[in-house]
Order: sequence, then C-alpha cells, then structure tokens
Amino acid sequence: MNETPMRARAVVDLAALRANVRVLRARAPKAQLMAVVKANAYGHGMVPCARAARRAGAAWIGTALPSEALELRAAGDSGRLLCWLWTPGGPFREAVEADVDISVSGLWALEEVLAAVRAAGRPARVQLKIDTGLGRNGCTPGDWEKLVAAAREAEAGGALRVTGIWSHFACADEPGHPSIRAQLDVFRDAVAYAEAQGLDPEVRHIANSPATLTLPEAHFDLVRTGVAVYGISPSPEIGTPADFGLRPVMTLTASLASVKRVPGGLGVSYGHQYTTPGETTLALVPLGYADGIPRAASGTGEVLVGGRRRRIAGRVAMDQFVIDLGDDTAETGDEAVLFGPGDRGEPTAEEWGQATGTIGYEVVTRITRRVPRVYVGAYEDEIAGVDGAGLADGVAGGVEAAGSPERGAAG
Ligand SMILES: *Cc1c(COP(=O)(O)O)cnc(C)c1O
Repeated sequence: MNETPMRARAVVDLAALRANVRVLRARAPKAQLMAVVKANAYGHGMVPCARAARRAGAAWIGTALPSEALELRAAGDSGRLLCWLWTPGGPFREAVEADVDISVSGLWALEEVLAAVRAAGRPARVQLKIDTGLGRNGCTPGDWEKLVAAAREAEAGGALRVTGIWSHFACADEPGHPSIRAQLDVFRDAVAYAEAQGLDPEVRHIANSPATLTLPEAHFDLVRTGVAVYGISPSPEIGTPADFGLRPVMTLTASLASVKRVPGGLGVSYGHQYTTPGETTLALVPLGYADGIPRAASGTGEVLVGGRRRRIAGRVAMDQFVIDLGDDTAETGDEAVLFGPGDRGEPTAEEWGQATGTIGYEVVTRITRRVPRVYVGAYEDEIAGVDGAGLADGVAGGVEAAGSPERGAAG
C-alpha cells in the first residue's frame, strides 16, 4: 500500500485495541464491558475506536459529552451508549430520539429529560449517578432519596426507564486507598435503597480501568474502561501495560525536517536554553505544542531516532523542536518516534507523562487534530467514512493486507 508522505502521524493500531478489549473482558468475565471513547477516544479517533471496540465485544460505549454520543449515532453506531456530562439545554431531546442512555445526577436533569420525552413522544433511558465520594458529578447521598423517588414516579408513569445506577471512583489507581472501600459501601447502600423503592436497573457499575484491573469486587454488572482500552496503564503504581497483557495502541512519529552539522557553542531554539557542547549534528522534529507535544518536555522528553533515544534540545516551540544527534548521521525524512508500545526502544506514553509531570492519559489525549491518524490493523468497515483516515501497513508492525487485520496484533 502506498504511504502518503507526512510531516507526522499518529499510527493507531486497531488490532491492538481489539485485543485489549478482549483482555479486559476476560478480566471481568461476569460483567459487560463499556469502552469509553470520550475526547476523540483519548486522542485515538472516536469512530474507528468505537467500531473496533464493538467488534471485540464491547456491549456499551461511553462518552462524556452529548455531542460525542450523537456523533457516534450519526456514524451508524446503534448499540447501547451512555453519556454522562450534561448541562442545562442538553440537548436532551436529540439524545432521547437517538436512544442514548442519559446519566442523571440531579432533579434539574430529570426535569429536562421529562420535557424531552414529551417533545420526542417516546420514553427515555436514564441512569442515576450517585456521588459515593469522588466529590465531582453525581447526586449526593443526602439528595438520593428525592432523586430516586422522582425517577421511580416518572418510570411508573411510563416516561422513562431507569436502566442503571452508577458511580465513579476517586482513587482506584491507588490500590488499598481507604476511599475505595468507603465508596463501595456507599454505592451498595445506594443501590439497595433504590431497589427497595422499586427500581430495577439493568446495570450497576462503578469500575474504571484501574478498578477493572485490580478490584474484581467492583465489577458489578458493567466495567467502564477507558485508558486500558488504549493500552495505557492507569498508573505506574499498578503496573505496566504488559503486566496486564495490554498493548499501547498509538505510535506518534514524525519525519525529520532538517539535519545539519553545526559548530560548538550554538544556542538552540527559543531562549537558547541548550547550547551545543561541541561540533555536532542537529535534527529538526516538525511537531510542537500546537500538535499537543507538551512544552514541559523542553530539555527532558525523549525521542527515538536511528535506533537511539535522544533528549529534546532546548525548548519545544509551537510547531517544532530540535534534537542533538552528536556524531551520528541521519537524513532529512528519517523517522523520529516520540512514543509507542516501546518494542523498538521508543519511549511509551507513560514515560512521556513521567518526563513532563503528567499522566499517560494526557499525553495521548492532547495530541491535536493537526496530526493525522493512520489506522493499522483495521477492518475496512471500521474506518469507512472517517474523515482523513487512511489504512496503512508496516508502520507499527501493522497488517499484511486488508482482510487479515487480526494478524497485525502483536502479543
Ligand atoms: C473517563 C471515565 C471513565 C474511564 O476511566 P479510565 O480510567 O480511563 O478507565 C469511566 N467513567 C467515567 C465517568 C469517566 O469519566
């Protein structure tokens, strides 16, 4: 297959994503799996990732924003789909019409859902969210009785069905943190109360990726996995992706835009925070903070070029940064690998997170749309109609041919 020359690309290995979904399903064998694809699938491309997750058995897809859920419906997704971050105005009617399960954290949202039901002329599916101790979204335990009573009444009147009761952990990535047990206790009580009041949810759920990986008793009926689907560990404390049989899905690469021999004592990039220690070869990587490369990686992030890791020399600018190759040779157009699975010696997203004071989640999610996503290990139907998406091979140990994409999955 032809490879379009590209300044840079984020290669997204959908065979790895499907394998990760299967690994996670096997870790929570009694629960259904929700693949969380908010924020453009943590930067990986929402529609292809959702389709690949469905193919691998994700019964549910989860989004934060209503616009994300509606975009999935417009792209043809017709499975169960939960959306949880609502503000007044919704759009609730569109969500009811699109058969989206709507998370409700308070009476105001329930009232807007009921108005949407009247406008749409059809019942809604609602999941009640209890704040068990994250202190973020969700109904407080003190308001739970009122919310349950209002939802029960609306259900009895046929306006909606309460399909789920759910919550979210604060510290699941710190196994043994006392808040985990406390949140589970509050959650069990909230579910028991709602059921005693006559609600009969299809799914009760609280587990994110770290709880799915480390806390079987939190699996209940459904696990909501995000970062692990993309092959990234929720935190170094609980292990590496490989410890769990997960494989990083995104590889970020660029073509060197310039390679030049320069004398010692040359100041490099804005502020001259790096000075060449002697005559050396500098290479220019055409990615910068406008592409989502953290400016905090200045002088600290690492990149693989010619089989060796190089530290970023000086500041990351909006569109580019420089690396010092010493006396090694490279050609303009050679590949620089910023992060990936690590097979070839390149850093992982988690390593970039550690180098820049953040987490692997943010490293992949902040890669902007300026960087084209290229899908490997994809079935044709997974990328059909996706703007700018290309099938490529041989980039990240990818596929031999369309039609056998599973062979692209390593490990
Ligand atoms: C983002 C999110 C998830 C997924 O979390 P991961 O740690 O990426 O698995 C699950 N549930 C909710 C409510 C979320 O916002």
